[in-house]
Amino acid sequence: MLSSLVDFIRAMYSTDDFIPLHAPIFSGHEKEYVATTIDSTFVSSVGKFVDLFEERVEAFTTTGKAVATVNGTAALHTALVMAGVKVGDYVVTQPLTFVATCNALHHMGATPIFVDVSQVSMGLCPIALEAYLEENAHLNCDGMCIHTETGKRIRAVVPMHTFGHPVQLDELQLVCSKWGIVLVEDAAESLGSYYKGQHTGTIGEYGALSFNGNKIITTGGGGMVLCKSAKAGAHAKHITTTAKVPHPYEFFHDEPGFNYRMPNLNAALGCAQFEQLSAFLKSKRIIATQYEAFFKGSDFEFVTEPEYGQSNYWLNAVICPSKEAREALLAVTNNASVMTRPVWTLMHKLPAYENVPKGALNNSEWLESRVVNLPSSPILELS
Ligand SMILES: *Cc1c(COP(=O)(O)O)cnc(C)c1O
Repeated sequence: MLSSLVDFIRAMYSTDDFIPLHAPIFSGHEKEYVATTIDSTFVSSVGKFVDLFEERVEAFTTTGKAVATVNGTAALHTALVMAGVKVGDYVVTQPLTFVATCNALHHMGATPIFVDVSQVSMGLCPIALEAYLEENAHLNCDGMCIHTETGKRIRAVVPMHTFGHPVQLDELQLVCSKWGIVLVEDAAESLGSYYKGQHTGTIGEYGALSFNGNKIITTGGGGMVLCKSAKAGAHAKHITTTAKVPHPYEFFHDEPGFNYRMPNLNAALGCAQFEQLSAFLKSKRIIATQYEAFFKGSDFEFVTEPEYGQSNYWLNAVICPSKEAREALLAVTNNASVMTRPVWTLMHKLPAYENVPKGALNNSEWLESRVVNLPSSPILELS
């Protein structure tokens, strides 16, 4: 089974060389657009590619306003500022995520509370969220959600669409509305994923995308804040550009700001990558179908999209029957130069986040010991 998996992946990628987990493909206008920025000298914070890239993402996701940033962590940080998260607040998120979700909270002096993921989506479970709040929180007389033991405010909930698979947003939104909490989506992994036909990252009050080198499209490093309204978008843009009040020559900044805006050089790469997004998505769906067929009938369960949504299949994943089977899969494939990877160490096991409040995390623990990511780079010949 395991050596046939190596053969299967090698055949799919038609190569005897090292097979990475996820490599970017630059087969479009990348060099041309990047060269344009150099020729024009507009490589930095001013230039047409930033606007163009934002417009493309707005149209694709049907969001009110998209604001390009230097990376996904910065996009998430900005989204959380927009959501009103303050120093000392608690923010509920899942322990099964990439560390950036928690770091963005930490940067603003907020603390995560970890609530379990659902087996349906591998993202934040609405039932576990409701149960945690029922047991550990109350609404004060102003309708604010208060963590009972510490008296601190629980301001926001940040679910993450794990590997591109959409979480149960309607149910999460319902719990958030009931408890007066803002929903912010970490959609860093889910460009091209839909929840009941609506693009992920546009359903919560704010969403954040990432264009890091390993994501479905890349700008080198980059991210985007998705805002529902033009007004919110304008404010997000303002705080990511040092909160400078527009003026031909005066420098006046009307609030604390960030230097988070995406350089034109990176946006040029993004525009070229964006032109290939639909081909990447098509190819990833075919790769996922092939993996699914390969694992069918074995005791390894290939992770498929939940029935209510459409996944971009950014990183393919398989659930091994046991931790021992996981170790064997990782060893056999990596020794054969086919890169596979266990899921992230759960956030509450990292030194920075081991002493924060948490609910029962049984599903997260179970998945941590069994999930393996498989090579998932797009294969353009397939689309
Ligand atoms: C990639 C990623 C981010 C953002 O990462 P950057 O490297 O800062 O762009 C945030 N959350 C998750 C879950 C991610 O996978």
